[in-house]
Amino acid sequence: MCYAIPGRVENLEGKIAIIDYFGEQKKAYNEIDKLKIGDYVYAQGGYVIERLSKEKALSTLQVWKETFFELQEKDLLLSKMQFENKNLDKRLLRILDKVSQNLSVSQEDYLDLLKRNNPNELNLIYKTANFIRHKNFGNACCVHGIIELSNQCARNCQYCGISVYNENLVRYKMLEEEILETAEMAIKTYGFKALVLQSGQDAYSVDELFKIIKKIKEKFAVLIFISVGEIGKPGLEKLYEAGARGVLLRFETSNSILFEKMHPGYKLETRVQELKNAYKMGYLILTGGLIGLPGQTEEDILNDIFLAKSLNAEMFSFGPFVPHPKTPLGKAISPTSQFMMKVLAVARFIDQDMAKILITTAFETIDKTAREEGLLSGANSVMLNVTPKEYKEQYTIYPNRAYLNKPVLEQIQETISLLQNIGRSPTDLGLGESSYDIEALK
Ligand code: SAH
Repeated sequence: MCYAIPGRVENLEGKIAIIDYFGEQKKAYNEIDKLKIGDYVYAQGGYVIERLSKEKALSTLQVWKETFFELQEKDLLLSKMQFENKNLDKRLLRILDKVSQNLSVSQEDYLDLLKRNNPNELNLIYKTANFIRHKNFGNACCVHGIIELSNQCARNCQYCGISVYNENLVRYKMLEEEILETAEMAIKTYGFKALVLQSGQDAYSVDELFKIIKKIKEKFAVLIFISVGEIGKPGLEKLYEAGARGVLLRFETSNSILFEKMHPGYKLETRVQELKNAYKMGYLILTGGLIGLPGQTEEDILNDIFLAKSLNAEMFSFGPFVPHPKTPLGKAISPTSQFMMKVLAVARFIDQDMAKILITTAFETIDKTAREEGLLSGANSVMLNVTPKEYKEQYTIYPNRAYLNKPVLEQIQETISLLQNIGRSPTDLGLGESSYDIEALK
């Protein structure tokens, strides 16, 4: 778990720092020179990313102090299990009982959950997922930023609006200095502590990415995730050397036949191997797939969740497929929001204590209330888009993306106020120099 709250280094065991947050102790991998016991640091995703002065740390902690416990209290109340409805189906109760004790649950039972539609039953499924999330992760909610560097793409993914099929799309490629400015704004002004750099396949060479990442890392304290498609083992090694520590790469679907239909000429195996290589090198893994692809079954979706878990995902990113008119799947349909919510809950049941679960923008595009509902159904992570407006409009992986016209500051304020309402502490978002501040949480 990571709080964008300063913590005090309590102990150092080799590269591992034990950090105290108001009495809770967490471990993080340290890459900072001459770190000492007693130093104050920010840690993200299991990495110490910044040392800060005692004065700065204490004044930030003063602001957080009461809020921290108030939020935990609120989350605890919202995540209590309630079984007051006695007329519920016995089989459902048996499955949820096993789930809440983390006992082994059969594929058939998970499928049973995915197929339920009765509102009372669904409510109980969501509540159980929320309870498990609370039990294992506490009230932390990761808030990462994402910069969409370029919509240039060399691939033919049948569903994607920036694929080669969208011939009329105006293509852009942010220059190194634009990326550095955007990163500076995200980190310094808005306080993000973790940034995802995303682009279409082959928009940048590995050498270009190396320079960009190295410069960001030299200038700022931030955890960098790359999401630029497949770059092979040498590419991954090079970008790790530049300072990237996470990879966001969805395998899209675990069904290899469906994968080849969706990506003619490409293989699931290659993508999965890329994720395995990245994990072995020490990258944090963010992965998942598209839900609701034409021809995909509920069994496929369960297999997707199992695959994401087996890849040691630090975070699951499962989002609904949203048709884009300029692609071969332009006339297909999105899954329902209810189905997505069930997928989130079942994902939380299958991986109870390792992976954070992201509410994707695509989910919020098909359902305006998805963020809040999803966070109450097992999810504990959101990503805010910090791409400059003129480029964001051209990054049309699917149409009508949520938050397209919302300035970053407003997105942050809305997120903070939502998290406050449901008792979550925003993590990976620190205190920037902008006018929003954690005081708003009180
Ligand atoms: N080149 C990078 C980033 C791809 S775009 C890569 O290969 O990983 C990021 C994600 O957008 C994709 O992984 C895909 O799952 C999602 N996406 C693309 N088209 C979509 C659509 N029509 N609906 C919903 N999500 C889509």
